[in-house]
Amino acid sequence: SANCLASALRAASLGRDDAPFATDASTGQITTYSALWTQVEAMAGALVALGVAPGDRVAMQVEKSIPGLACYLGTVLAGAIHLPLNTGYPAAEVSYFLTDAAPRVFICDPAKLDTMSPVALDAGVSHVLTLDADGAGTLSDAAATATPLTQAVARGADDLAAFLYTSGTTGRSKGAMLTHGNLTSNADTLRDLWQFTDTDVLIHALPVFHTHGLFVAINVTLMAGGAIILHRSFDAAAVLADFPRATSLMGVPTFYTRLLDQPGLTKDACAGMRLFVSGSAPMLLDTHLKWQDRTGHTVLERYGMTETCMNTSNPYDGQRKPGTVGLPLPGVELRLAEADGSPTPKGAPGGIEVRGPNLFKGYWQMPEKTAADMRADGWFITGDIGQIDDDGYVSIVGRSKDLIISGGYNIYPKEIEALIDDIDGVVESAAFGVPDADFGESVAVAIVLERGATLTPDAIKQAIAPQLARYKHPRQVHILDALPRNTMGKVQKNQLRDTFAA
Ligand code: ATP
Ligand code: MG
Repeated sequence: SANCLASALRAASLGRDDAPFATDASTGQITTYSALWTQVEAMAGALVALGVAPGDRVAMQVEKSIPGLACYLGTVLAGAIHLPLNTGYPAAEVSYFLTDAAPRVFICDPAKLDTMSPVALDAGVSHVLTLDADGAGTLSDAAATATPLTQAVARGADDLAAFLYTSGTTGRSKGAMLTHGNLTSNADTLRDLWQFTDTDVLIHALPVFHTHGLFVAINVTLMAGGAIILHRSFDAAAVLADFPRATSLMGVPTFYTRLLDQPGLTKDACAGMRLFVSGSAPMLLDTHLKWQDRTGHTVLERYGMTETCMNTSNPYDGQRKPGTVGLPLPGVELRLAEADGSPTPKGAPGGIEVRGPNLFKGYWQMPEKTAADMRADGWFITGDIGQIDDDGYVSIVGRSKDLIISGGYNIYPKEIEALIDDIDGVVESAAFGVPDADFGESVAVAIVLERGATLTPDAIKQAIAPQLARYKHPRQVHILDALPRNTMGKVQKNQLRDTFAA
């Protein structure tokens, strides 16, 4: 059915047999759609032969590769639940996630087998397999010789397709349970909205263990019958070199700032590109403007999260407003509300809540957290704070966990950051709260300066003081070489708070 992810993706691949699905950026090797699905069917057959059934989790910690993607699709084709783990996790982290999610199968790279196998068996995994992504791309074990599964095990809109752990920006990662309906509806919507077709070639340099790289980039491409150029990781020069043979790029803000450092980034270099998408973290206005100036393109910024897939996007054809994340996606409802569920006054910042077919089923084994974040009438409390302008464009003001409350006043970090970022010589900044004996919390900022800039903390305080109410004035100003970020380029304010709490 249209809601069964594997069936929907399979249907979208029809007639594309000899068309390329992926080109490996480093080797130039091309994988056609028929070669991809042959691998997918072999994986699915192997899993079924091991007894994997609907409801079972199949965890994998495999380097980004075609066989790795086939493993994802094979799991879904077999009706099971895909659970990708960050390839950077050491044994202790893997142990935590496998114990938490209790998958039936764990698949890793051959080089990791010795370390991870005992961890997986300890966690109660029944089968530990390796996937030789650089070689034949087949699963180890007798199951590798199983009969391919050519028909998707039918699943409905409400059945689980994936467990995806959140990025862990605000605390321990949570397992988000995503359904076939979530993933098919979001992929269909984004394909249509961003006008992806079978002539598109997407430069894919994102990790595939997050919603962005997997469910946005891969699913949208497959739903359109398009192609990807697969980069194992992001390298600005290598990505730029692929612009002439591509049409689109999906990235996080750091992709764009690093590309801006490349002298070869010119309007000519971008002549064949039709779309640049950014999300996962806020893009600085300065980056937006520099990108427009250098390339003639406006980056299309969108907003989503592991729990909800994508929520908003700037329009493809209409006005894209830098500094905003655009409008709610078709079919997705978005509102601003206070903690008690009452509507936020028009124009004021408030908690972003969303509702729609994109909304996950809940956090795995965290019923209290799920209940606390999901209102009875279906609204999900995202934990992000936003503002909506007169045209309905949403901007993200911060996360509620990052809200600074000083002397009873709410302080939105973004307001302070925007002023500091505007100072000549400042690259970027992060405002956060630190414990304060008198006020509960006071404002601290961490700032990264341009090379050669000689701004002092005092000069920064003076520059912004006239534009800020007294209670918002930073008490601490720290000049850092870089802000602490995770793999998706998100600033980890927890870490800043811990470091500067004293
Ligand atoms: P955790 O929930 O574990 O603390 P996380 O929220 O960073 O981590 P993800 O689900 O990967 O994990 O990220 C979703 C969050 O990323 C959103 O809630 C929002 O705060 C942020 N985000 C995504 N896109 C944008 C954007 N375009 N601008 C600003 N923030 C964004
Ligand atoms: Mg989150």
